[in-house]
Amino acid sequence: MTSSDELQKRRSSAVARGVGSVINSYVDSASGGTLTDVDGRRWIDFAAGIAVTNVGNSAPRVVEAVRAQVERFTHTCFMVAPYESYVAVCEQLNALTPGGFEKRSALFNSGAEAVENAVKVARHATGRSAVVVFDHAYHGRTNLTLALTAKNMPYKHRFGPFAGEVYRVPMSYPLRDGGLDGATAAARAIETIEKQVGAENVAALLIEPIQGEGGFVVPAKGFLPALRTWATAAGAVFVADEIQTGFCRTGDWFACQHEGVEPDLVTLAKGMAGGLPLAAVTGRAELMDAVHVGGLGGTYGGNPIACAAALAAIETMRELDLAGAARRIGTVLGDRLRAVAARDPRIAEVRGRGAMLAVEIVTPGTLTPDPSATAAVSAACHAAGLLTLTCGTYGNVLRFLPPLVISDDDLARGLDILDAAFG
Ligand SMILES: *Cc1c(COP(=O)(O)O)cnc(C)c1O
Repeated sequence: MTSSDELQKRRSSAVARGVGSVINSYVDSASGGTLTDVDGRRWIDFAAGIAVTNVGNSAPRVVEAVRAQVERFTHTCFMVAPYESYVAVCEQLNALTPGGFEKRSALFNSGAEAVENAVKVARHATGRSAVVVFDHAYHGRTNLTLALTAKNMPYKHRFGPFAGEVYRVPMSYPLRDGGLDGATAAARAIETIEKQVGAENVAALLIEPIQGEGGFVVPAKGFLPALRTWATAAGAVFVADEIQTGFCRTGDWFACQHEGVEPDLVTLAKGMAGGLPLAAVTGRAELMDAVHVGGLGGTYGGNPIACAAALAAIETMRELDLAGAARRIGTVLGDRLRAVAARDPRIAEVRGRGAMLAVEIVTPGTLTPDPSATAAVSAACHAAGLLTLTCGTYGNVLRFLPPLVISDDDLARGLDILDAAFG
């Protein structure tokens, strides 16, 4: 078989340099909590393809559903000739997402496309244009979503000009805002909106209930509910970007449920379809249905194979109680991370929820981010066969996103490697 070294050579003369990879090993196969590379090496997976394979790779129900669908038909375009599985996925999303009100959904290909469409719906329904986003936010890499994303390198650098009418306000980031309580942090964000944008101009307030790429920042308790209340009073659409937090990752179906927040619209992708590309906007029927017929769509959105995979993945999450699994993983992982933090002063904080946990790494005794120590720990994990990811505005957060079906054995082995990587 072709080795990773050979593939790396072919890649450098075939694949654009701008597309990076975390590791230089090429995957041959993958299952619940492990990957095997083409060199025959086994990796423990604490990345899940960036919170995508919550049900594991090639989950049995997903494989079966995809196989059956691919033999029946592969694509008709829902906008041309519709089919049941698209409707069934929308029914599932309407029922699963927070909020007892009447809902509608529309399906797309990627998270960024879902976010773009949530903004389209919010602007159309309100007749307003401003979109409010937060420091450290990540919402995608298309032109509008780059405007919504906070971080310059590597995402935005030299890719502008970006879409207009996007306003950034302070996030609740307890480690770095002096530990402001949720209500105070929300008041600070709201004051910025009211002074710099004007409440009556806001079409959408868009927020990740726990930030993903921005550093697994968990806002202080009360922050999200206060913003939800403000948005209602302002007539602005509250959009929760649950693309990374969704589908059992944080120990609930969706992270907003933790504080009982009911968003007007939710954007969904990543964990939704067991690894197939599928995304959605789900929310209040009166907002979603405000858009004229033909105003939403796309050639591949809600592809029948991806829809079959999503129905199977959702069924798997229910059947195996993967929200419960995420809570159990969170306890084991969190206990171990706190034990490491107790002996290693570079760890300023262990944070996250369920199976979405991270450590923020600093120069001991300060809050100065230490991205090189973070990269070194991550590299030590990789050298020992544990696939981990970093994130954060300052590149100093090591994050853990194991598949929710990871075995106790693989989880324990991964934690031993992680523990040793801190030295
Ligand atoms: C990954 C992500 C996106 C973008 O999704 P893509 O499928 O990569 O376009 C948007 N928002 C959040 C919170 C994400 O984590």
